[in-house]
Amino acid sequence: MTERTSHDHAADEFQKDEEIHGYYQFLGLAIEELLVEKGIVTGDEIRATIERRDSITPAIGARIVARAWTDPPYRQRLLTDGTAAAEEFGCEFDATELVVVENTPEAHNVIVCTLCSCYPRMVLGLPPSWYKSREYRARAVREPRAVLKEFGTELAENVEVRVHDSTADMRYLVLPMRPDGTEAMDEDALAALVTRDCMIGVTVPKV
Ligand code: FE
Repeated sequence: MTERTSHDHAADEFQKDEEIHGYYQFLGLAIEELLVEKGIVTGDEIRATIERRDSITPAIGARIVARAWTDPPYRQRLLTDGTAAAEEFGCEFDATELVVVENTPEAHNVIVCTLCSCYPRMVLGLPPSWYKSREYRARAVREPRAVLKEFGTELAENVEVRVHDSTADMRYLVLPMRPDGTEAMDEDALAALVTRDCMIGVTVPKV
């Protein structure tokens, strides 16, 4: 494994992925045209859905994490029923369930979709391109510690790494540990520490 300074992947890896996405883009367009032609959905409904989805950013997930850090009953609700707890923040779910996995001093959680690109889009928006890459999808399960190291995350040997494979029905969100030295911070300040990658589990929040 050559050393990588960022999450970028070699151009040829991206090209392969893009070819696949190109195929599904054509398929998607064809289905969209048929649905509109048959009067099942309107172009405006599709546009409004895309607009709503594009408005979701990791800031929503960060607010959820900050609330869990400051409000113990909310944290409990989040861990018991992630879907319902995220709905309290206006997140919309259809048939998909959200499972929130909590980092502890003993266990660190990482999420992946080994099959395709399932991601907690309702709380984080669109996934980063590396999340969809074949390399991340394969290596996150095969050698999670090596992958984490490339993201700059080195865990102690006694910390168990738990990798969660997302599916169409079940999406995961990592609840990171609240960093030391943040006792005086309010919810907004805490939310600013929580990045997208912390909630995927490839890194941890830093002060
Ligand atoms: Fe998937």
